[in-house]
Amino acid sequence: MIRLATSADPDDWRWQLRHAATSVDDLSRALKLTPEELAGARRAAEAGLPVRVTPYYLGLADPDDPECPVRKQCVPHALEAETVAGDLEDPLGEVEHEVAPHLVQRYPDRALLLATDHCAVYCRFCTRSRMVGDGSGAVDLERLGPAFAYLEAHPEVRDVIVSGGDPVTLSTDRLVRLLTRLRAIPSVETIRLATRVPVTLPQRITAELVTALRPLHPIWVMTHFNHPKELTPESLAACIRLVDAGFPVMNQTVLLAGINDDPTTLETLFRGLVRARVRPYYLLQADVVQGTGHLRTPLARGLEIMEALQGRLTGIALPKLICDTPGGRGKVPLVPDYVVQKGPGRTVLRTFRGEEVEVIDPPTEG
Ligand code: SF4
Repeated sequence: MIRLATSADPDDWRWQLRHAATSVDDLSRALKLTPEELAGARRAAEAGLPVRVTPYYLGLADPDDPECPVRKQCVPHALEAETVAGDLEDPLGEVEHEVAPHLVQRYPDRALLLATDHCAVYCRFCTRSRMVGDGSGAVDLERLGPAFAYLEAHPEVRDVIVSGGDPVTLSTDRLVRLLTRLRAIPSVETIRLATRVPVTLPQRITAELVTALRPLHPIWVMTHFNHPKELTPESLAACIRLVDAGFPVMNQTVLLAGINDDPTTLETLFRGLVRARVRPYYLLQADVVQGTGHLRTPLARGLEIMEALQGRLTGIALPKLICDTPGGRGKVPLVPDYVVQKGPGRTVLRTFRGEEVEVIDPPTEG
């Protein structure tokens, strides 16, 4: 039997968006807010800062536990008002690297197209908190004209990441028109959709959506699971639906203090993703976004975690640890130091078991 989504159907992604929690009252009805959360939510309301949590994602939050990792990702906190050393409003220098309206280029071969300010859930650690939910709405094709013209004039850009906000919150029709326009640029080889919808609004990944996007391949989906609590039957089904339709799904986890900054939590997350054929791609040092100091970890913590996971987790489940350097100077991979000694033709390496092993180079010619 075909079940038709209606406006009264919580399985309908539009219902989820219409019924999202956006106010102090909405959050208070669902969760027993702490004084710090209440202050954070009131400050957001007064300052017009975006708050939105779908009923689905809010349902994953523990109503009684302020340490709940889902809750900490979506409920404002008083500490967001604090500025700490290193904080930046635009940590990746995206304004500085804008090459056309809504188009950012920080690397020679790829560019970022910002298609909307909307998200299903406004994450408290968002790199683009300066612009998400600012009310500017979806950018129409006409306004993206200069961005398309730039891409046509720069065939060295072969990979376009469509982001926002979350582009998968656009209507299917609008998203297809946008991607079709990009596909008409012969030098654009790969399109990537950067979306947290599989995590926060999995109802959006409908059969209708994947059928509509499939002719526009190759499209890669870059998603953003941060904690095993987010691996639900719904979110896993959304990922599997995408993968079955030929969309490689890659996951970028942000390392967040008190949420996922321990090897056991991340091991569970990465193993769960791989079971759904989602590749753990990056473990990202959190960007130095203004007001997120309480959610960030020291660089050394990420290295310790990677070291703990090396050897314990199959390679396909092990992401790269990345620091996207402040100011938009580019991503730097961080690797624990396994080289104990280096000499001419001979290197001593430390294995994951702590053994030291000598590796001899081949003899040089002449
Ligand atoms: S879904 Fe992405 S763009 Fe939107 S608030 Fe979360 S991190 Fe930011």
